[in-house]
Amino acid sequence: MAQINGVLGPIDLDDLGFTLMHEHILIANWSMRQSFADWVDIPGHIRKATEEVRSAGERGVNTIVDLTPINLGRDIHVIREVAERAEMQVIAATGLYWTEEPWIQGWEVETLVDTLITDIEKGIQGTSSKAGIIKCATDHLGVTPLNKKTLQVAARLHRATGVPISTHTSSAEHTGLRQIEVFEEEGVDLRRVVIGHCGDTEELEYLESILRTGCFIGMDRFGLDMMLSTAKRVSMVAELCRRGYADQMVLSHDACCHIDWFPKSALAAVPNWNFRHISDDVVPALRKEGVSEDQLHQLTVSNPRRVFAAQGSY
Ligand SMILES: [Zn+2]
Repeated sequence: MAQINGVLGPIDLDDLGFTLMHEHILIANWSMRQSFADWVDIPGHIRKATEEVRSAGERGVNTIVDLTPINLGRDIHVIREVAERAEMQVIAATGLYWTEEPWIQGWEVETLVDTLITDIEKGIQGTSSKAGIIKCATDHLGVTPLNKKTLQVAARLHRATGVPISTHTSSAEHTGLRQIEVFEEEGVDLRRVVIGHCGDTEELEYLESILRTGCFIGMDRFGLDMMLSTAKRVSMVAELCRRGYADQMVLSHDACCHIDWFPKSALAAVPNWNFRHISDDVVPALRKEGVSEDQLHQLTVSNPRRVFAAQGSY
């Protein structure tokens, strides 16, 4: 039986079930947390996040992929505690965000790989929780020399371990295609890659050019209505199903139980940005647009399984 690294121990591939492929239990800057004791109320956050994760479980979600990279404040202790309390299978990530850090500049790719690989092989932050997925990110700056280095780190971690890659992109700048160029140079198996945030755009041509490479695409920001409404996101998934791509899409919200980037009041503008929106609203809307039960099963269960499938067989 193939097994995947979950934060509370190995998960049998067959037990993955309904999987949200891109969420965040906590995004909070480590430097600010270290400097100001009240930057995040961790016990309060754990209670709130546990409720949120449990509410997803009550709706039939079996697994949540927490795609928080190291330098967005990934805290495995918080992730573990929430997973335990909410009785949810959670998969954590290793890898780097697109923001340009001085310490990424100064190190060779291989040194970063040797450091990050311990997240996958030994455990994160001294715990037994191993990373089950590799995150990397390319935003509006595009593939700068420094960004290329972080993509190479992700590619080489994948080549060394068989763990899949899932990315952050800026659809408006078509950075998904630029990421794929680097992955191809590095010999990555593109069938084990999710190009993220593809649900932010209505440019079918861009999305089909990604899909033709064999990658999965993440229709993974349901609820971020200010970028694209739920109705438009649903129509894009339904249209791509009609075009024969139901086996290459995964769904998620990219929601955060807590994020320290803006005041809480800003979240009032996105009331559906939570772990429940897909179960409550998106799945019924997809049915209405003609997406079949088999296709819904592909989007939520079998495609996530295929993203993780070959892990351990390398
Ligand atoms: Zn994210």
